Amino acid sequence: MKTEKYEFYHQSNIITLGNLIDDLHGVHVHLLRLQRRYYRIYGKYASLSRILKHITKLKRTTKPHYKQLPSQMIQDVAIRIDLGYQKFFDYLDEKAKGLSPRKVGKPKIKPNHKYNSVTFTQAGYKIEGNRLTINCFKKAFTFWEHREWTGKIKKITIKRDNVGDYYLYLTCENPEPTQKLSLTGNEAGADFGMKTFLTLSDGIKIGSPEFFKQSLNEIRSANKALSRKQKGSNAWYRAKRHLARVNKDIANRRRDWFFKLALRLVRRYDKIAIETLNLEGMKRLWGRKVSDLAFGEFSLILRWMCAKYGKTVLRAGRWEATTKPCSDCGHRNENLTLNERQWACLECGSSHDRDINAALNILRVGVPWT
Ligand SMILES: [Zn+2]
Repeated sequence: MKTEKYEFYHQSNIITLGNLIDDLHGVHVHLLRLQRRYYRIYGKYASLSRILKHITKLKRTTKPHYKQLPSQMIQDVAIRIDLGYQKFFDYLDEKAKGLSPRKVGKPKIKPNHKYNSVTFTQAGYKIEGNRLTINCFKKAFTFWEHREWTGKIKKITIKRDNVGDYYLYLTCENPEPTQKLSLTGNEAGADFGMKTFLTLSDGIKIGSPEFFKQSLNEIRSANKALSRKQKGSNAWYRAKRHLARVNKDIANRRRDWFFKLALRLVRRYDKIAIETLNLEGMKRLWGRKVSDLAFGEFSLILRWMCAKYGKTVLRAGRWEATTKPCSDCGHRNENLTLNERQWACLECGSSHDRDINAALNILRVGVPWT
């Protein structure tokens, strides 16, 4: 199974998709409230078949507009809630038996702003070229087909983000395998840094792009604009959405850069070793800069890219000593301070660039990241 993501073009009827999501949220709320009432009266939850029967009745009586929604989607909402209750009961059973399972809560009513996607599993839609037709609306929506999907479509999901853009996710079965890149025989350790984004053990340094810094200013001014508005006013909502848009654009640019960088590395090396950092700890220590560089995000992209092209990621645990040992002889330089960029080993005399030495050590201790 493989999922591809496509963005819908901005088009006048896109609001239909938003309304569909909101309507299904209405169904979600209604069914969960129903379950609670049922429980209060009968002391148990209603079965799925009972709920489905009830939905059929609702369409005739108090909720005639449910007839306009894809019936399979309404069923899906009911099924998801039912699954939630089943998991909850399984959890209670296991707990009663004295086991200690992972905690599962009772299904909760999601607030509107967290209910942002709907899924078609079987029928009810058609895809021709870059047009998605939803049968019951008799409307087509075009999306930007920046790449082709392969295999048979098993499931489609429509998502809305907090900026108000809509996306289509196509989950395909038996996609054509991607081509593996030919092996080069190169391997490298990579050390993440504040100023230099990556230092590779063969001496290559990759600086952080300038737009990381520029984007901070953009966020700051969007934040300031928001704080000047009266909370809850129209202008405030506009400013809030603008801030979300700025954040999204920056995240997109950053991810784009990460993908390009990861691809460059994957082409050049067969094995890349990275350090898994304690991201939470560093965020507290260094403030925004680290979260901005988003090492964690890059590691995941690199790992994904390596898997895709048949290369290997090695990882060095965050407790491994990588900075102080000499990469030539292993002697630990206990006196090394944070500011020393260059140092010479007292044991074997070799001189080191701090970051390259660390990268070499990362390569040495790295184990395959599975
Ligand atoms: Zn040494």
